[in-house]
Amino acid sequence: MEIQAFGYLGVGSSDLDDWAAFATSTVGMQPVDRASSMRAFRMDDRKQRLFIDRAIEPGTQVFGWEVANAAALDQLAARLEAAGVAVKREPANLADQRCVAGLISFADPAGNRLEAFHGAQIADAPFKPSRDISGFRTGPQGMGHTLLTVPDIDAALAFYKDLLGFRISDFIVAPLKAYFLHVNPRHHSVALVAAPVRSMHHLLVEYYLLDDVGQGFDLLQNAPEKIVSTIGRHSNDLMTSYYMRTPSEIYVECGWGGKDVDDATPPAEMASVASFWGHKGLFEDIGAPPSAAPEVGSRRAPVQVIEGNYNRMAGVCQWWDEARRNR
Ligand code: FE
Repeated sequence: MEIQAFGYLGVGSSDLDDWAAFATSTVGMQPVDRASSMRAFRMDDRKQRLFIDRAIEPGTQVFGWEVANAAALDQLAARLEAAGVAVKREPANLADQRCVAGLISFADPAGNRLEAFHGAQIADAPFKPSRDISGFRTGPQGMGHTLLTVPDIDAALAFYKDLLGFRISDFIVAPLKAYFLHVNPRHHSVALVAAPVRSMHHLLVEYYLLDDVGQGFDLLQNAPEKIVSTIGRHSNDLMTSYYMRTPSEIYVECGWGGKDVDDATPPAEMASVASFWGHKGLFEDIGAPPSAAPEVGSRRAPVQVIEGNYNRMAGVCQWWDEARRNR
């Protein structure tokens, strides 16, 4: 199917200055000069990944999904229309605003505004983070992931999976119902969680080094009211992360070490979404039942590293070799 990655996020808000301070000094994104009615931010070589726009209805978001080229965009538009979804071919001035070559817009069953685009523009100058971080893991894995709560999860799942071509990485049906869906090796680009109301819960951004996460969390100690959860490790995508408040209702998850998935692995049903450790405050915040609380010390997994952000130790340990053989 056509969709390759979560390409950009637009947030409807008039708190432009608060958002600018947050996205730069707290998260580490680079501000870009744009119209006075909006703020835009870079995370990599692209001209923009996140934008905050007064023109987007406050409390709502725009989710940008990337396809390979104009032909793939036409193909996606045709399939959506054949399924009865209203599709708008957006004009060149909106494409300019989004810094892409072309885009269409449509809504998911919950009412979220989705855009599909091709031809993201590359900036002339190298990415320069606003705080001292190693950089964001984007590229083929897109800008990160988002978690959406939806009132009709069966309709949302059918839309994202069957119509848009997302694949299920893993899911849970009790004590809550949630599906984690991928379009590339990132474990999930979208998580759908059944809830009474539609909302965007969070945007994940992933750093290259674990230290970026720890240092970001240290920075937050000056503003403890912004902390949603402590640092913890998720049991499905194995992300080590914490969550914080933004100037809007949504949260940002700052993470490191998410695992890759492939399409050959069948979807796994989870018995719990509890973290391996930490994330204190997260499950309480979403009103999860007490059974979702972490079971201390019961589960663990190797860290998920990418080439260049680890050093392999030279020493061997007979006890560890033995333990691994017996697993
Ligand atoms: Fe997440």
